[in-house]
Amino acid sequence: MKIGILSTNRALYSTARLVEACERRGHEVRVINHKRCYMNIASHRPAVHYRGEALTGFDAIIPRIGASVTFYGTAVVRQFEMMGVYSVNESVAITRSRDKLRALQLLSRKGLGMPVTGIANSPDDTADLLRLVGGAPVVIKLLEGTQGVGVVLAETTKAAESVIEAFRGLHANFLVQEFIAEAGGADIRAFVIGDKVVAAMQRQAREGEFRSNLHRGGSAQLIKITPEERSTAVRAARVMGLNVAGVDLLRANHGPVIMEVNSSPGLEGIEKATGKDIAGMIIEFIEKNARHGRTRTRGSG
Ligand code: ADP
Repeated sequence: MKIGILSTNRALYSTARLVEACERRGHEVRVINHKRCYMNIASHRPAVHYRGEALTGFDAIIPRIGASVTFYGTAVVRQFEMMGVYSVNESVAITRSRDKLRALQLLSRKGLGMPVTGIANSPDDTADLLRLVGGAPVVIKLLEGTQGVGVVLAETTKAAESVIEAFRGLHANFLVQEFIAEAGGADIRAFVIGDKVVAAMQRQAREGEFRSNLHRGGSAQLIKITPEERSTAVRAARVMGLNVAGVDLLRANHGPVIMEVNSSPGLEGIEKATGKDIAGMIIEFIEKNARHGRTRTRGSG
């Protein structure tokens, strides 16, 4: 097969591992920087152009779109879809999961567990919003944040009100969430491919920190997850419409709660923690599922 990897940097661990896995399995592979793709939308025969050439003959693409280029990156993925090229994660699913609020709304509709979460527009509603999520301590999250940036733990109502006022002053969109203290600064990353969790790791925040992101000094280790956690992760990926997803869960007293579903989950942490060939499994999934014209808009909302 001819496989394109949409990535801005071929030296990144995940990109390099996917290239290696394609080659090892006998495929032709090309890394395409989606930021350098351009398109003629009006054309009857949709095409993606790249550094002076039209990209043709691809059987599948693997989007690795960073959060900062979601808008343009998903437009490039959509163009490939219009050309009939199979995308392992389709553009609509990526867009859906990138919007934290939309994602949580869709997950809640399907009855999946999540921390009690609220959002309000008017400053007049702050006090009631805080009551709605159970009062302090609460976690306040910028909707545009990634890697733990813009995720604040407000331990008192006063602190929560100040943070909310500050975010409002900056015209930032945010949500307010019940703080799952019993998670103890640990979260679970379940790596889903198709309808299976193929690997899972636990990330533990460093001393004195509640955010377990590896970029914030958290550490990762192999973990065995429960059947309930497994099915929650698989259902979350399905609701988003993602074939490949990193589902982040917290262990709450009343069971697993979902924090986020990631459409371009990193491979380094999970491969190193579990010793599994996740890149190879993604390519294997593509071998089994890629068909011309198969990517279409699934799911809703
Ligand atoms: P980002 O997408 O920026 O990583 P997350 O929503 O995943 O933001 O939050 C970052 C980290 O903060 C999580 O991995 C988790 O460890 C911690 N965290 C987030 N929300 C909560 C919460 N409601 N209760 C307890 N810990 C939380």
